[in-house]
Amino acid sequence: MELASPITIYWDIPAAADTSLLQRVAADILDCRPLMLQITSTEPRLTEDILTVLEQFRDSPVSVILTIPLAAYDDSCRDHLQGSGVQEVLLAVNHADRSGGEGWPVSGLVGISFPVISGNWRELPDLVHSCLDHGITRLVLPMQRLYEGEPPFFLTVREQRELAEALAVAGGAVGLNLTIHDPFLWRAFNPGVPFPQGGCQAANTMIAISPDGGVYPCPSLPVRLGTVGSQSLKEIIASASKKELRRKLLAHPGACWECGELVECRGGCRGRAYVMHQSLEGEDPACW
Ligand code: SF4
Repeated sequence: MELASPITIYWDIPAAADTSLLQRVAADILDCRPLMLQITSTEPRLTEDILTVLEQFRDSPVSVILTIPLAAYDDSCRDHLQGSGVQEVLLAVNHADRSGGEGWPVSGLVGISFPVISGNWRELPDLVHSCLDHGITRLVLPMQRLYEGEPPFFLTVREQRELAEALAVAGGAVGLNLTIHDPFLWRAFNPGVPFPQGGCQAANTMIAISPDGGVYPCPSLPVRLGTVGSQSLKEIIASASKKELRRKLLAHPGACWECGELVECRGGCRGRAYVMHQSLEGEDPACW
C-alpha cells in the first residue's frame, strides 16, 4: 500500500534558520495537507522563528506536536504556547529525573520525549517512575535521527530481555500513554502484545524533513529523496524515486524470509538495517 500523501510529516527545524525559508517550507507542508506535523527543535529556547512557523499552522487543520528541550520550557515559553494552537508539547530529556521531584515541570499539556541511546536505556524504568511521579502521563520514545551518519542504536536480544524484566520488576508502564516506534523496544514494554504498526511506514504514512532541508522517508531511514527549496515537497512526495523506495519497503528484507518471527516484527526497523548493511535486504541488528 502507498498513500498518495503522508499522514504525518516530521520536521526537524534547524538552529539559526533563515526565517523566509522556514516560512516557505511551512507553506509547502500545508500544501501537502498532512493530518499531523511533528516539529522538533533543539534550540535551548523558543525562538521567534518557531513562533512564526506555529502561527502559520494556527488556523489550519494540521495538528501540530512540538518537541523542544526541557530547558526551553520556561514561563515565557509557556505563555507563548498558550493559544498557539499546538496540540501537544513534548519536552526532550536525556535522563530520568532523579531530583526527587524538583527538576521537571508539571502541566497537563506536557509530555516527555526521551531519545533512547546506549547511554540511557537502562534508565527507562526510572523514567517511567519520573513521569508518573510528576503526573505526566504521556511518554514518547522518538525515532532515532539517522540523517548524518550516526550509528544506529539498538538493544541486543539479551538486553531486550533485561529491559523487559527491569520494567516488570518496576511495575511496568501502566498509566502512561506511550508512543514507541521501535518494535523491539515495544516488545520490552508490552510483552506478548503485537507491535501495532503494520510494518515499516517510511515513505507511506510519514515523511521527514531534516534540519538541512533534506526530505527522507523517515527520520531513521537515511535515503535522501530530495531537498525542500529545490523542489516542492509535493513534487518530492509524488516522485518516481519515492514510489520506488516505497515499493521496496513493502517487500520483507531478503535476509528475513526464513525467520519464524517475521510475522511479528515484519522486518524490524528498515532504516537501522539500511545503515548497518547499506541495503534494504539485510536484517535489523536488534534481531541478532
Ligand atoms: S525506518 Fe521504518 S521501521 Fe524504522 S522507524 Fe522508520 S518507519 Fe519505523
